[in-house]
Amino acid sequence: MTTTSEASVDSVFLSRHNNYSRSCSQCMLLRTTTATIRATVFTTSLTSSSSKSPTLKTTTLKTTTRLSSLFLNNRFALFRTQKSALTTTTTTCTFSSSSSSGFHHSATAASTHRANSNQPLSVTLLQSPKGAGRFTTKSVDRGKRQTAAISTSALVVFAASNKSESAININENNSTNSENIVTMVHPDRVKLINDQPILRDGNGPIVYWMSRDQRVNDNWAMLYAIELANKEKKPLVVVFNVVTKFLGAGARQFGFMLRGLREVESALEERDIPFKLLHGGDEPNVEIEKFCNEVSASAVVTDFSPLRLGLKWRDDFAKETKRSVRVVDAHNIVPCWVASPKLEVGARTLRGKLAKLYGEFMVPFPDTLPNVENKDAALHEKIKSVKTDWDGVLGQALERGKDVPEVTWAVPGEKAAMAVLDNFLTKRMNLYGLRNDPAKPQALSGLSPYLHFGQISGQRCAMKALEAKKGSNGKAVDVFFEELVVRRELADNFCYYSPKYDTIEGQQYDWAKDTLRAHAGDKREYTYTYEEFEQAKTHDDLWNAAQRELVYGGKMHGFMRMYWAKKILEWSDTPENALKYAIALNDRWSLDGRDPSGYVGCMWSIVGVHDQGWKEREIFGKIRYMAYSGCEKKFKIPEYIKRVNALVEAVQKNEVSYKSNPGAWEIGRDDVLPKVAKSDDGDQDERKSKKQKK
Ligand SMILES: Cc1cc2nc3c(=O)[nH]c(=O)nc-3n(C[C@H](O)[C@H](O)[C@H](O)COP(=O)(O)OP(=O)(O)OC[C@H]3O[C@@H](n4cnc5c(N)ncnc54)[C@H](O)[C@@H]3O)c2cc1C
Repeated sequence: MTTTSEASVDSVFLSRHNNYSRSCSQCMLLRTTTATIRATVFTTSLTSSSSKSPTLKTTTLKTTTRLSSLFLNNRFALFRTQKSALTTTTTTCTFSSSSSSGFHHSATAASTHRANSNQPLSVTLLQSPKGAGRFTTKSVDRGKRQTAAISTSALVVFAASNKSESAININENNSTNSENIVTMVHPDRVKLINDQPILRDGNGPIVYWMSRDQRVNDNWAMLYAIELANKEKKPLVVVFNVVTKFLGAGARQFGFMLRGLREVESALEERDIPFKLLHGGDEPNVEIEKFCNEVSASAVVTDFSPLRLGLKWRDDFAKETKRSVRVVDAHNIVPCWVASPKLEVGARTLRGKLAKLYGEFMVPFPDTLPNVENKDAALHEKIKSVKTDWDGVLGQALERGKDVPEVTWAVPGEKAAMAVLDNFLTKRMNLYGLRNDPAKPQALSGLSPYLHFGQISGQRCAMKALEAKKGSNGKAVDVFFEELVVRRELADNFCYYSPKYDTIEGQQYDWAKDTLRAHAGDKREYTYTYEEFEQAKTHDDLWNAAQRELVYGGKMHGFMRMYWAKKILEWSDTPENALKYAIALNDRWSLDGRDPSGYVGCMWSIVGVHDQGWKEREIFGKIRYMAYSGCEKKFKIPEYIKRVNALVEAVQKNEVSYKSNPGAWEIGRDDVLPKVAKSDDGDQDERKSKKQKK
């Protein structure tokens, strides 16, 4: 049994936390007097029907009248006591871990407070038990329970009146702790995908095999790799294997990715972490294993993709190698396998599940990347001595994929991604209510290419949007959060649990497959081949504009994507071909293609995934239909077509400006943003439908 007596916040905190700094979010949490604590608190809406984003707010906690315990994020638990008449309450805090990656631990702490309104609040801190897991608290007077996760390096904060009888006991019960790793990464974010050990002989590095999450900052896989390296006292090497063919990608996508990776290399170099670009072969599992053998890697950490090819690469590697392999979901806020153990019906069933877990997983990233303690200078030099011929690799990729040329408007890389996010949140967020108007594309964030290549973290985008949330843009933030988090993570859920995610069989519900089958023989007024679609040679000026936007701009407006895919169903000879064409065109021409959101977008439009049955009609059966006339009512079609024509002209002239950007925004050019009424920060469609109902 360990007993910790009361102490002032700063002294205990400082003694536990070496890097006390004003810019550190953890320290901020505890920059406090004995009477006041400034804290960042997540309040999440836990009702499954709610479409509201959680609120992220900074709260000044004072002694208050109500006994409650608050979990500030997964690092701290804070209990506050009363200001009212004398009360005695006992709070017990039980810690237990539950993780797939070998963390098992439990501990109990109990605190009895006798609070008095005349006495200032003081705070007692406890270092959390080992491991990471879940706290459950129970206060005896109310019997209320709340849970939160906490990591080893964390402190438990007990706030109590100065003269409270505060007896805090920790009973540690360190059970089958197989690994007991110190981690700031939630252990449920990590999956061991083979039974191999960490090879501890020698000084072989931990290898972070970067794949889907191509960034240095805000990357849970990178953080986990650093922590594992430090725990094992090993160096760290980051490696990326670039293949020559990837799901139809051309110069457009390879150029964007390689330029982003070049930035990753220099950002890591600044932090003394070696980076290696492998470009010799098309089987990453083989290439990574070769590299691991060359450097005698002790273990491999990689990021997560729900796509078949990504899963296969990782699984094949894990089977072949003799070292431990761990996958970290650094792409989703709530790890895909934690959010749900099964295929979800739709957003309405996933939303509530995610909401319950934001408090646990949407925790702040460290402000700076922690140091790797074991810097093996010889290894670093060895890796650096074979310089990556970036220009050569890039040149070859551009030549190979020249049929789909690069776009000029999308500046690749982590820094550019942050600039786009900042521009969206500060200048364009209030337009988000107009996101379904293709004539006003500035309303969209333009973040999908960065999110797709993992050059920005979805969690960072979500947290920054929540920070920027205020009364006037509340609705816009809620809707953006829904798209960015719920819909995006739903797409990962679909691909992960429905491995045939890009075929009609991928739809698990019979109504949709049956209805498409029943109407497969319906007469089509128009049918087009893949080539005719690709060359925008249909009878429909709106559809052709959307296709030209995709081909020339590299990104089709989100609303038009739905119309575009549905018309491919209407004008293809079979639903199977329609799906094939839509996916192939999207993957080939879209910068953000080859993404779960793309497969799900096509499956939603053509195969009714995540949707319901609608009134039966020809060709579509019960699949939701979209009509030209509906678009006419929604937005000004000629304006959209005019905009696309201008875009095509700008691209043909090689103009590097908002004119060649399908989003029609340019950082530093506020004059190109539409002037819209203040009320447009709400949801335009929702208001329209309410009006219609009335
Ligand atoms: C037929 C079809 C194809 C699509 N193909 C892709 C694709 O290849 N890649 C892709 O990322 N998205 C795709 N989407 C989803 C959506 O249209 C795009 O994510 C969005 O248009 C991207 O632009 P943005 O970042 O400016 O959007 P914003 O509206 O600013 O959204 C912000 C982010 O939220 C996420 N998001 C928004 N809408 C959706 C959605 N419906 N489903 C899942 N996530 C969403 C994206 O990550 C997006 O970047 C497709 C949708 C359809 C109907």
